[in-house]
Amino acid sequence: MIVAANWKMNPDLATASQLVSRYVAQDFGDDTAGGDSGGDAGVSRILFAPHPYLVPMGVRLKGSDVMLGGQDCHANPAGAHTGDVSAQMLVECGAGYVLLGHSERRSDHGESDALVNEKAQTAIATGLNVMICVGESDAQRMQGDAIDVVTRQLDGSVPTDLGAATLVIAYEPVWAIGTGKVASLDEIAEMHSAIRKWAEGRGLDGVAILYGGSVKPGNAADIFAIPDVSGALVGGASLDAEQFAAICLSASAAV
Ligand code: PEP
Repeated sequence: MIVAANWKMNPDLATASQLVSRYVAQDFGDDTAGGDSGGDAGVSRILFAPHPYLVPMGVRLKGSDVMLGGQDCHANPAGAHTGDVSAQMLVECGAGYVLLGHSERRSDHGESDALVNEKAQTAIATGLNVMICVGESDAQRMQGDAIDVVTRQLDGSVPTDLGAATLVIAYEPVWAIGTGKVASLDEIAEMHSAIRKWAEGRGLDGVAILYGGSVKPGNAADIFAIPDVSGALVGGASLDAEQFAAICLSASAAV
């Protein structure tokens, strides 16, 4: 199971430091659990922190099992791209992952599948693992196009030569992100099974497929019980140490 925290453009630095210390101190209730002792009770945790926080959060995560990730990188390895961050910079700041194609980047910055694909190729060539987000809008779901939309996004965004070990797919219906609306268990099951089928067609057997969209302590256990759900990408609830810990515990119980 993987539980990933997406802090987006939050919080302030003092709060971030306290929050990450609470992540590190999480007790999974067995002998090996808890940050510094190195155990994770079958749950891999990833923190997608804002870029300026990667180094200070990395310092606090040292010796813990929580991995660090950037929230984006440029498709080019270096160059005249004011305000952007390269994959190599993420690596040098301690990141092992990069989040790509989040719906907020697709909408706020007009990112296309082709651009996400280029970024993923650069990130992988630099030694990062990639988490690629896909998901349909409300209107697309209402029209019955959800699976076609997500399949097209996967075709366009996931490089053909990527291996399952370096890729995580996050299915995030756009209408469920930050809205408190969660996809029904049937909707999640149907989409994850379609994504699994797509992945197997691409030789990506066993790739992790996360659900994201208003995951909270109260719905996590039911979501983690769905076949083909390998964990969650968590936005709002990851900014609350107790909520995030509860979601991680549910993931651990589902292992
Ligand atoms: C996200 O940002 O990826 C996300 C799923 O947010 P939230 O959990 O707040 O819906």
